[in-house]
Amino acid sequence: MQVFCDFDGTISKWDVTDFVLQRFAPPEWHKIEDQWTKGKITSAQCMQRQVRLIRATRDELDALVDMVEIDDSFIAFKAFCDSKGLSLTVVSDGVDYFIQRVLARHGLTGISVVANKLVIDPAKVGACFDLDFPFINAACAAGSGVCKCNVVAPSRDDIYVGDGRSDFCVSNAEVTVFAKAKLADYCHRRRIPFIPYDSFADIQAAVAKILSSPPRQPVALSVAKSA
Ligand SMILES: [Mg+2]
Ligand SMILES: [Zn+2]
Repeated sequence: MQVFCDFDGTISKWDVTDFVLQRFAPPEWHKIEDQWTKGKITSAQCMQRQVRLIRATRDELDALVDMVEIDDSFIAFKAFCDSKGLSLTVVSDGVDYFIQRVLARHGLTGISVVANKLVIDPAKVGACFDLDFPFINAACAAGSGVCKCNVVAPSRDDIYVGDGRSDFCVSNAEVTVFAKAKLADYCHRRRIPFIPYDSFADIQAAVAKILSSPPRQPVALSVAKSA
């Protein structure tokens, strides 16, 4: 079993890119967001245009990112994965630099991160940020910078944890999905089997159950949420 997790709203308590834009970008970023919501531009185009609007020094950016809080039970979940020999990968349509900084500040090391790449050009004054897309997939209808369905190989043995729109394309794949918020609504509407969760404590309990269930028996996909 391999574990794949979304970052923003799943591990972090709020969307880190939005948090940065709110503080360091002119209000124009909302207009770009609207264009994406209306389907006029892709998620990747939206993110790149927004990141280019960030006006901050590296120190200012770091200080803000250091305020981001994560699901408290994620730290225990990471230790649980280590103890069971499960590889844990963050698959995010957010920004690699932010994610790595947040994880490191919480003492979380050894987690691979698949995300869009922040490019910082210190030679430029003001507009020194840009975004690269090493994991883009033009064939995916989602239009994300990171195409999650391309990163997560379809396997019922693997689990995927998410909460939002960037997780929709992977939820269609043959993978065991843990969902909350918009992703849970999406799976529900599309009759995609999923396990509901509130925190990583729920996920840990459910994964422990899956691991202890006898092999060759189908795993119940609609387990009750643990208290
Ligand atoms: Mg999310
Ligand atoms: Zn995709």
